[in-house]
Amino acid sequence: MLKGIAASQGIAVAKVYKLEQPVLDIVMKTADPTEELAKLDAAFVKTVADIEKIKEVASKSLAAEELAVFDAHLMMANDPELRSQIEDMIRNDSVNAEYATEQVANMMVTIFESMEDAYMRERAADIKDVTFRLKCNLCGKVIPNLATIDTPVVIVAKDLTPSDTGSLNKEFAKGFATEIGGRTSHSAIMARSLEIPAVVGVTGILDAAKEGDEVILDAIEGEVILNPTPEQVAEYTKKAEEFKAQKEALKALKNQESISTDGHKVLLVGNIGSPKDVEGVVENGGEGVGLFRTEFLYMKSEDWPDEDTQYEAYKAVLEGMNGKPVVIRTLDIGGDKKLKYYEFEEEMNPFLGVRAVRFCLMRKDIFRTQLRALLRASAYGKLCIMFPMIATVQEFKDAKKCYEDARAELIAEGVKVGDDVEVGCMIEIPAAAVLADQLSKYADFFSIGTNDLIQYSMAADRMSQPVSYLYQPLNPSILRLVKMTIDGAHKNGKWCGMCGEMAGDETAAPVLLGLGLDEFSMSATSILRARQIINGLSYAEMKELAEKAVACDTMEEVSEIVTAALAK
Ligand code: PEP
Ligand code: MG
Repeated sequence: MLKGIAASQGIAVAKVYKLEQPVLDIVMKTADPTEELAKLDAAFVKTVADIEKIKEVASKSLAAEELAVFDAHLMMANDPELRSQIEDMIRNDSVNAEYATEQVANMMVTIFESMEDAYMRERAADIKDVTFRLKCNLCGKVIPNLATIDTPVVIVAKDLTPSDTGSLNKEFAKGFATEIGGRTSHSAIMARSLEIPAVVGVTGILDAAKEGDEVILDAIEGEVILNPTPEQVAEYTKKAEEFKAQKEALKALKNQESISTDGHKVLLVGNIGSPKDVEGVVENGGEGVGLFRTEFLYMKSEDWPDEDTQYEAYKAVLEGMNGKPVVIRTLDIGGDKKLKYYEFEEEMNPFLGVRAVRFCLMRKDIFRTQLRALLRASAYGKLCIMFPMIATVQEFKDAKKCYEDARAELIAEGVKVGDDVEVGCMIEIPAAAVLADQLSKYADFFSIGTNDLIQYSMAADRMSQPVSYLYQPLNPSILRLVKMTIDGAHKNGKWCGMCGEMAGDETAAPVLLGLGLDEFSMSATSILRARQIINGLSYAEMKELAEKAVACDTMEEVSEIVTAALAK
């Protein structure tokens, strides 16, 4: 049994599917050209078939322009030039097919990478991709592909990129376990929104798990049991059913308000990564969207998404929420979130570098496109826009100026925009929390991003498993920053929400209620449980509890008093 961090609740019992790139050890050998040419022919046939299969599966979830990459790969796999060069080398040098493929591939990649034209340079990646598949087929190695899984599995990997997580098919991907990552790494966040059980930070899992092993993933306790006994399988199958039944029972709260026993109302809203997730928020009784992470729109695109594409996505979310408030965050790229079509400068500490609003203020052209799209969509619902990673009042003013400019531009063009758009500020850098009472003069609202706020306050990388013990939402230091932010907002009559993972943390809810948080934004699947908790608490008592909590020495002390309050 291996221990990790339960990142997305649930239980799965299935077979291991290892997501590991095969390692190829290709050496030159003298070989019979006739045999090698036959091998090469078979490998080309399989490569084309593989790409066609991936394209077919992907076409169920991806848009036409996202499928274009597979057509480019198919064209390359069918390219007579690539093939004849490899065949010539096999014939002329009597070498093995995998060696000839590698040599020709390297040569072609070098040529493409040195081309003037950016489009042609990017084709080098396609050549690498297709020839790697060809070499794997020659060596009898399988490239794992999440999109083509067609039996129930638990995925075991070092880490899953957000795009890996995005291509998981819930029908067959019953859960995942990764070596690295913490509760707030983006793969964990996406797992929660997809409702896929996940245990992250499981040291040693890649070595211990073999492809096809039976595995129990207990993503409630954060445990992975490899090759379980039949008794364990029976025990966990029962546990999984109980978990499902509990979730069903919560559905009764779907259309209720979120209100304390003494009448203090709050909003419980959902975090989403794409317009598709709106359905989950509505189904789980969300009173709005508190965070739309727009970067996923950029990450799954082949190039910077244009204004119309973005407009359609934002409009779909606003219409889907039917007049309920929707908070859309402007592009938060950088850190662990990369783009295939843009190369960020190498930085020693990418989480401390050019990220989010810092990037947008350096690339105002990209920022402007997004703001225009948002403003055009604002005519279709109640839109709140917020800027991520604001550190100073000046940054907020600069970002707001870009917003005002885009708005003026659209109005001059005669385009309809909403007249009740709110422009807010994420509080995820301690400097902004400390200055919240000044920032709230300019911002219409705040949303506390505790994933980053905790990482920056504790100086503990949110991706690092060894320092994950410093992810302490209940540490009085964090609670004080949260209090400062809420009080700072209220001082100028503004509202304060929270969209970091802490907002959906059951043990934090009583203190956050007591501190006066107005809006709690969380994975859709946590909303009903949060409502059950809040609807059973007294606001007056939680205010007292919060006062005690900020005066504690340690998170353990806070945890104790909260547990006692919840048990009442
Ligand atoms: C946060 O930092 O808490 C947050 C909500 O943003 P993200 O997790 O996308 O960085
Ligand atoms: Mg953040």
